[in-house]
Amino acid sequence: MPSRSSNVYFRKLGIPSAQTQLYRRLLFWLAAQAGLLECFRCHENIKRWEDFSIDHKEPWRFASDPIEAYFNSDNIAFSHLGCNRMSADLIRNHRARRITHCPQGHAYDVENTYLYRGGRLCKTCHRDSERLRRRRLRHSTI
Ligand SMILES: [Zn+2]
Ligand SMILES: [Zn+2]
Repeated sequence: MPSRSSNVYFRKLGIPSAQTQLYRRLLFWLAAQAGLLECFRCHENIKRWEDFSIDHKEPWRFASDPIEAYFNSDNIAFSHLGCNRMSADLIRNHRARRITHCPQGHAYDVENTYLYRGGRLCKTCHRDSERLRRRRLRHSTI
């Protein structure tokens, strides 16, 4: 974490994310030196650092060990920012479509589904957990 005083200097640069930008520019430059600018997704060359992104070959969000999958250099590839985002959206939609029931086996249909923070919640399970919570509260006050 940059300290407060170093933030003052960063503000002078007039670029709010100067440090992040430096890392990306540097990494882009190093990848260029190493001849690693072929996009992992579309196999075109990445030409500008603004389009450059660190990508994961296997989606780390769904890995059995997400931390390992996130930091393992064998799992890291470089790709266009656009290609990276597109693949993340595809994976998310694909996963979401495939899961049709909650962990307790209730259907994620229109009547039984809340949308919550970009995900889905099962109304039946939510009702059950509320009932349990109220019952526990009642018992604890007696
Ligand atoms: Zn690409
Ligand atoms: Zn449920």
